Amino acid sequence: MSIRIGIIGGGAAGLFAACQFKRLASGKDIDVTLIEKNSIPGIKLTLTGHGRCNITNLKDISDLRNGYHEAGNFLYPALRQFGPKDTMRFVENDLGLPLKEEDNNRIFPVCDSAAAVRDALISYISDSTRILTNTTVSSIAVTSAFDVTTDHGKYDFDFIILSCGGSSFTKTGSTGDSYVLAKSLGHTIETVKAALAPVRADSSSAGMCRDLSGVPVIAGVSVWHEGRKIAAYVGEVLFAEFGLTGPAVMEISREIPADIRDTYMELDLVPSVSDEEFDRQLQTLIDEHADTKMANLLSRYVPASVAAEITSRTGTEDMYAQGFTRENRKKVCREMKHLKIGIGAAPDIDKAYVTRGGVSLREIDRKTMGSKLLPGLYVIGEALDIDGISGGYNLQACMSEAYLAARSILDR
Ligand SMILES: Cc1cc2nc3c(=O)[nH]c(=O)nc-3n(C[C@H](O)[C@H](O)[C@H](O)COP(=O)(O)OP(=O)(O)OC[C@H]3O[C@@H](n4cnc5c(N)ncnc54)[C@H](O)[C@@H]3O)c2cc1C
Repeated sequence: MSIRIGIIGGGAAGLFAACQFKRLASGKDIDVTLIEKNSIPGIKLTLTGHGRCNITNLKDISDLRNGYHEAGNFLYPALRQFGPKDTMRFVENDLGLPLKEEDNNRIFPVCDSAAAVRDALISYISDSTRILTNTTVSSIAVTSAFDVTTDHGKYDFDFIILSCGGSSFTKTGSTGDSYVLAKSLGHTIETVKAALAPVRADSSSAGMCRDLSGVPVIAGVSVWHEGRKIAAYVGEVLFAEFGLTGPAVMEISREIPADIRDTYMELDLVPSVSDEEFDRQLQTLIDEHADTKMANLLSRYVPASVAAEITSRTGTEDMYAQGFTRENRKKVCREMKHLKIGIGAAPDIDKAYVTRGGVSLREIDRKTMGSKLLPGLYVIGEALDIDGISGGYNLQACMSEAYLAARSILDR
């Protein structure tokens, strides 16, 4: 009799798992069914990389693991077994999509189309996997098999791969069903919150962010909670109508607590030098350019619109360098190095690129992605308590985990 394998959720992780079964089956009698609630699998996948699909990242695996925060060690065996180079070989050789490397080791298809990646995945598994679309799994019961109930009937499987995603971008189908199903099977769900999300400013900072909307700066971003700096990151920040976005803000958003009382962000607009060094540099500029307006001097460090904002906040917009007092200079330094951004709300999970939290890693075997509580159950993708930084890390995690789960099931 065939081994009946049910993949619940046809996003990136579920599609990758179906592909691995096809690649690795080598004559084994398996019967793979992928159940997807949308009318087509991989809707979130088509949004990745701004529609271009940053499929992986070619950093060395020992560097790569650091991009998964607390989950780096858990994921290490999976990355070693099926790493970025394996992903690239699979996409180029099996899917037939040439790839290219961009800045920061990010890998994209040459065609710049995430939809093409999704379509190639579906096409690859079309002769090996039964794909049930418009079918929502509502419950999984454990008898002699896994009894899966959907809105279109019941199915029995010997193995289940749970890959219903997280709770972000709910319009793509990731509505938290992984957590409900995993919990019903005895698993613990770590608190679910936004990661890689933009941040809304409060009323004290909203006007400034709106005025500077669309302006990018390279800044140190830090999150302060109850008087303590709890996280810091340096990178590009983009002012927006609603507050702040851009890679550095998105990266640090996972650290903003759900209760945002007594929490704010700070931007260091000159992250390459210390407070003291910037103060010295400013004094030198003042001495050497007495007839220049302060906003013009600051434009050496930040875009002119940001420089104008800083002088306006410090009441120095009409001042020339020669009129600057020590107090004026200290104020400008303070705003340039510690620009306070009030936070209006905890980052919105529906606008998050990934979900932090999910199925507890303590209950998953990191060598197989199998449940330690329920033999035959595997959990992969965003359903797990793993969130990577941006740059292809999250899809690579899906790919590595899918490989381990498929390999383990086929070895049994
Ligand atoms: C805008 C955006 C851009 C991104 N860009 C990148 C990028 O460039 N590179 C990168 O590495 N990562 C990127 N990510 C993150 C990446 O998309 C996710 O990490 C990845 O899609 C997670 O895959 P998944 O299969 O676990 O979940 P999902 O892709 O969310 O798939 C879960 C699937 O399960 C289905 N499902 C849910 N519940 C049920 C149910 N009860 N029954 C049946 N089916 C169900 C859903 O419809 C969905 O299709 C991006 C995310 C977003 C939102």
